[in-house]
Amino acid sequence: MSARDWIEKDFYRELGVTSDASADEIKKAYRKLARELHPDANPGDAKAEARFKAVSEAYGVLSDTAKRKQYDEARRLFSGGGGFPGGFGAGGGGFDVGDLFGRQGAQAGGMGGLGDLLGGLFNRRGGTAGSATRPRRGEDVETDVRIDFTEAVKGATVPMRLSSPATCGTCAGSGARPGTSPRTCTNCGGAGLVTRSQGAFAFSEPCADCRGTGRIVDDPCPECDGDGVSTKTRTLTIRIPPGVDDGQRIRLAGQGEPGRNNGPAGDLFVRVHVNPHPIFGRSGNDLTVTVPVTFPELALGTTLTVPTLEGKVTLKVPAGTASGRVLRAKGKGIARRDGQVGDLLITLNVAVPNNMDAAAREALENYASVTAKHDPRAELNALLEKRSV
Ligand SMILES: [Zn+2]
Ligand SMILES: [Zn+2]
Repeated sequence: MSARDWIEKDFYRELGVTSDASADEIKKAYRKLARELHPDANPGDAKAEARFKAVSEAYGVLSDTAKRKQYDEARRLFSGGGGFPGGFGAGGGGFDVGDLFGRQGAQAGGMGGLGDLLGGLFNRRGGTAGSATRPRRGEDVETDVRIDFTEAVKGATVPMRLSSPATCGTCAGSGARPGTSPRTCTNCGGAGLVTRSQGAFAFSEPCADCRGTGRIVDDPCPECDGDGVSTKTRTLTIRIPPGVDDGQRIRLAGQGEPGRNNGPAGDLFVRVHVNPHPIFGRSGNDLTVTVPVTFPELALGTTLTVPTLEGKVTLKVPAGTASGRVLRAKGKGIARRDGQVGDLLITLNVAVPNNMDAAAREALENYASVTAKHDPRAELNALLEKRSV
């Protein structure tokens, strides 16, 4: 990948946002795409992986206000829309962006470096020396985990396999073969930048010898090819607190991508998806359950044994209880870590038999004739009549 490719890359289109998108919109778009395209979600899908990399690269630039500004400026200058004097563009004058970055191909995968290269290239206000080696925080990473209803209620520890860029373990991030170390670049004296004059313009450019890193690796690490970062599969144990709800995010500080140049690591966000329970539902901290009852049980009253997440609870149903009535078993809901405890809400629903034997039928017909004088809709009809007058 040449720098020209890069400058002509449309990071905005990559994330599906407009060039005037807000930081929040960019973040949202990135999170959504990163979730869809994450290698863990698309094992063996090279296309998704390439897109994942491209999206991460785009986000790396657009999420950083300073880099985004420089990228926008670069696009204005080099993508044909610019009002720069003719001959300045690639190949026309002496300033060939392709040349400048010609050696970059070897490390095109190192997306972290690109922003800094561009930053060095266009920052003309001085004070840029050292920007290539400035500590930078690693990216946040978002991933998903699916747990069972009961695990969500009680809390769980979930082992998780995550593949993401991580500091190379073989060279500890130096990029040099173990036993060797990178040397300071003699071309730029370790600054990572050289100054170059082009007519009236003076540019600080990333040093072509060391690609802006200030260091040269003579004997690259076999594991990461000198990048210092390799894709690693880590196993993490994620502690999910009791009472977590479907769609909630858990933050694991420092478990995201590693920082560059001793910068701090980003955070890992785990979005929790909760499988529904065959019996129980949930409403905030309350558990819900629907229990079928017979008409005689409601009419005559009864004692019901109802399942809870832990054992059973016995409830008295008073005579004359309406169908659909909700009973409450205090404290049998979700106990959260912060001490809040919900209840179990029990909805009583009359189960109507769909086939009855002759004896049951006769008994019911008997009941119907004995109670024929009772009209359950009397009140409703009275109200209707009143209104239509
Ligand atoms: Zn390495
Ligand atoms: Zn150098």
